[in-house]
Amino acid sequence: MTDSTLHRVRTRFAPSPTGSLHIGGLRTALFNWLFARHHGGSFILRIEDTDQKRLDPTALQTLMEALRWAGLQWDEGPEVGGQYGPYVQSERLDLYRQWANWLVESDKAYQCYCSPERLQQVNREKEARKEPPGYDRRCRSLTPEQRAAYEAQGITPVIRFKMPLEGETVVRDAIRGESVFDNATQQDAVLLKSDGFPTYHLAVIIDDHFMQISHVMRAIEWFPSFPLHAQIWQAFGWEMPVYAHLPVMLNPNGTGKMSKRNPPKDKYGNLIPVMVHDYMRAGYLPEAMDNFLANIGWNFGDEREFFTMAEAIERFSLERINPANSAFPVEKLDWLNGEHIRALPPDELARRLQAVLHDAGFEASFDRVRQVVPLVQIRMKRLTDIIDLAGFLFRDDFAPPPPEELIQEKMDAASTALALERAHAALAGLDDFSHANQDTALRGLADELKLKPKQLFGALRVATTGQRVAPPLFETNELLGKDVVLERICKAAESLAVQS
Ligand code: GLU
Repeated sequence: MTDSTLHRVRTRFAPSPTGSLHIGGLRTALFNWLFARHHGGSFILRIEDTDQKRLDPTALQTLMEALRWAGLQWDEGPEVGGQYGPYVQSERLDLYRQWANWLVESDKAYQCYCSPERLQQVNREKEARKEPPGYDRRCRSLTPEQRAAYEAQGITPVIRFKMPLEGETVVRDAIRGESVFDNATQQDAVLLKSDGFPTYHLAVIIDDHFMQISHVMRAIEWFPSFPLHAQIWQAFGWEMPVYAHLPVMLNPNGTGKMSKRNPPKDKYGNLIPVMVHDYMRAGYLPEAMDNFLANIGWNFGDEREFFTMAEAIERFSLERINPANSAFPVEKLDWLNGEHIRALPPDELARRLQAVLHDAGFEASFDRVRQVVPLVQIRMKRLTDIIDLAGFLFRDDFAPPPPEELIQEKMDAASTALALERAHAALAGLDDFSHANQDTALRGLADELKLKPKQLFGALRVATTGQRVAPPLFETNELLGKDVVLERICKAAESLAVQS
């Protein structure tokens, strides 16, 4: 990489809107965004919708929503505009046609009139001869008369690139160094289809050129097209951007690509989502997701795995992208998410939890959620944990717990009923219902009853929250309020008294 490429860094994320955003796509976007931000450059979103057969009309919105969720706001692109637009390829068709024709006129591309049937036939024959498939370049040497004859038949040609037949193409990748390809092994790729739409190969180069992209960071899957692209750049006589092909993100067990057709599983056999929206819904923080993805194929440089995007921006460099494919270390994700939850300011966590609770149908005021935050912040791995952990704090309807849940180890219905009645009396006597006061009163009671605190508090937790696992008991009771707590303990004790 020459320094001259760094004075005006422009990167792009160029997805094809064929569905929701894949987690691997988000990582590609993230690396481009980090690189642009590190150099104070621009990050561009370009929509590559030239494969009309694979379009999903809702995909663009979903995609932008996912990028915005992850904090990867683009400086130019759909909904934002910019001086190099339009940023949607189907709105740039004239440009592609014009430059495809220019290549034909410059003898660097040619019209091909071969029908799909003929191409299939060519491939069948090649297969029979045990040759690799590919076009036999019949139209590369048509005479003007032959071309005119095809035109007269009304056949709309495709435009194919004239790949040099001999020699080598040397390409340089910022992560992988230099590679040499033998031109004889390359194809005369289609640049413009008969429907007037460009292929990826043509559109990507025209757009990267006119949008003045300085660095192309894209998936390694495109590496085989690199010599073709280098030749197209050369045919146009345009200066090539720096290329960096990003390593593949493999399944957690390292066996294959993360793919929704073959969904990966964690070590417990649970499916691991591959779409960003699934992570959004599952209670992951964008901060954690970005952090997690930044660790796959790139490293912070000092063994640190937990960091913010501001820190990553400061550190980001292509030199620390590892060319080897790396597995998706799914077990790290929950850990990182928990760490990012703990790093959030409590008001911010409250806002996010409130949204999760609302989505789950709870009526939760900000103030109430904010009160709960200190009780749950250190205990959560995902935002959605709030529902099982403390959903009861946002519900009025309380189902009294079954007696078997109330009775603790080495206790029976009678001893539990007695413990609850005594606890009721002790708590009822407190003028100040603070958690510290409850603590003192109930620890004394446990001693008196010759119970372990775990036994007494366990029974009380089930009695007041309805669940065995809940935030700390006395703080929770404080939030529930003395009246509610006493009423629930009373009901629980009664249910046991009936039993014994
Ligand atoms: N539309 C291509 C894709 O989604 C973009 C590849 C590139 O970044 O050049 O894979």
